[in-house]
Amino acid sequence: MVIASKYVFVTGGVSSSLGKGLTAASLGRLLKARGFKVTMCKLDPYINVDPGTMNPFEHGEVFVTEDGGETDLDLGHYERFIDENLYRNSNTTTGSIYSSVIAKERRGDYLGKTVQVIPHITDEIKERVKKLASEEIDVVICEVGGTVGDIEIVPFLESIRQFRRDVGKDNVCYLHLTLVPYLAPSGEHKTKPTQHSVTELRSRGIQPDVIVCRSDQTLPSGLKRKISLLCDVPIEAVVSAVDAASIYEIPLALYDEGLDTIVGKLLHLDLENHPIDLSSWRNLVDRVYSPSKSVKIGVIGKYVNLPDAYLSVTEALRHGGFHHGASIDIKWIQAETVSDILSEGLQADGSVSSLLDSLDGIVIPGGFGERGVEGKIAAAKYARENNIPCLGLCLGLQVMVCDVARSLAGLKGANSREFDPTTLHPVVDLMDEQSDVRDMGGTMRLGSYVARLTPGTKVGNAYGTEVVSERHRHRYEVNPKYRSRLEEAGLVLSGTSPDDKLVEFIELKDHPYFVGTQAHPEFKSRPERAHPLFRDLIGAAIERAEDRAPHLLDLDSIS
Ligand code: GLN
Repeated sequence: MVIASKYVFVTGGVSSSLGKGLTAASLGRLLKARGFKVTMCKLDPYINVDPGTMNPFEHGEVFVTEDGGETDLDLGHYERFIDENLYRNSNTTTGSIYSSVIAKERRGDYLGKTVQVIPHITDEIKERVKKLASEEIDVVICEVGGTVGDIEIVPFLESIRQFRRDVGKDNVCYLHLTLVPYLAPSGEHKTKPTQHSVTELRSRGIQPDVIVCRSDQTLPSGLKRKISLLCDVPIEAVVSAVDAASIYEIPLALYDEGLDTIVGKLLHLDLENHPIDLSSWRNLVDRVYSPSKSVKIGVIGKYVNLPDAYLSVTEALRHGGFHHGASIDIKWIQAETVSDILSEGLQADGSVSSLLDSLDGIVIPGGFGERGVEGKIAAAKYARENNIPCLGLCLGLQVMVCDVARSLAGLKGANSREFDPTTLHPVVDLMDEQSDVRDMGGTMRLGSYVARLTPGTKVGNAYGTEVVSERHRHRYEVNPKYRSRLEEAGLVLSGTSPDDKLVEFIELKDHPYFVGTQAHPEFKSRPERAHPLFRDLIGAAIERAEDRAPHLLDLDSIS
């Protein structure tokens, strides 16, 4: 196979959470802004076969690709930064590598040989990365999860070390991200952790070509010189990555440090014929930093203590804000506390004035399991009754349907069978139990599915097209047996599957914005192209804020 691509391997040291994924994604954006075709991948050293079954509390959101891959949340950053769709195979874990190798061994593919980490596991890892290369791709950027020194990372480091020999030295660049901490008592930035981290990488046979140093301030040239000498990289390949107020500024900061030029030269990319054009990204960052208004959006969730669990939702809300020139003040509300919040705000006249009232908009995100569901239904009801713009995502749509069923269709105790297996009115149910509907097998509906929208509805107008496709990750669906009852009660089905059997979008007519989708549109939102449903939620939230307190909304008038 002819491998046309060049490869950048991004490793990290010293500490986790240094922003390796964002650094890799930012490099991707810079190379794309030079007109190169970029794809990205993540090698995750943990043993889980994929992150699909991992607890969001521990690992953050599960990002879903078009082809239904349940992947690490870094793939979301990659897609948002390089504005290219990735695939299930763009994320590889130790567990998935081992399960393929063991399956091959069971099939006899190794002809009775002893199956070992080197070469069998390392070959499998290299194959996965090479498969991402094609005639259409100039550069594959591959992030290795974890930090050098971790036990599980060793086979991955060995694979990327071998990779350079396999595809040629001019086709591979090793980028290492470290931390340069500032120690207040001595009043200095310290390079020792970087030195140790590079020593650790070298002990695996990898000499980094570029060292990106995370620090709170730009590194002075003296410090860069020191790192250059001690770690044996040219001084221009010591890149300072300063903390940024918005993640979308990082590509610009790394451009100022010349990162794309260094990497381009190392990979012998034709930089002369690929001048960079960052104008649209600069324009985006200008908008990020100059909002003229601010809106308060409540996210009613279960994993609110770890906002990473809702990373794509958060970013999609921000994108909606960028579109309207608004900053988004997110209030994380634990779903289980919603009824307490409402009862605390109960007034003598029976009305409720609560924290929810102070919101300009509400998002009810996806989720699994019963905990907090009644709170989400109560939040949907409150948003509906009080004209608060509200967007329901997946489980969010399902709780909106439960509320409409209970409150407007007179279906007492209506619920999803996921939360109440004995409910009299399973308005949301597993499809394989519906004889007249195609067999969903009770398994997860994953990845991209097409829907047909009803023209003239809010959803139809938002998208501006009749046929849309969105990514899914759920088991339950609106029960077709209840469709007409719900419609009679005022629920508008603004989009269904092309065979009209599955409800994909719902809304209410006489409400500023009460919209739900069975899909996860947050995965497709991009900073320069806010997703239409998030864009219109923020638009409606701005209107609510303006109606309530016009003088408060305009940030310029405050400052
Ligand atoms: N638990 C619900 C289902 O499986 C919703 C899933 C989700 O929100 N992603 O249908």
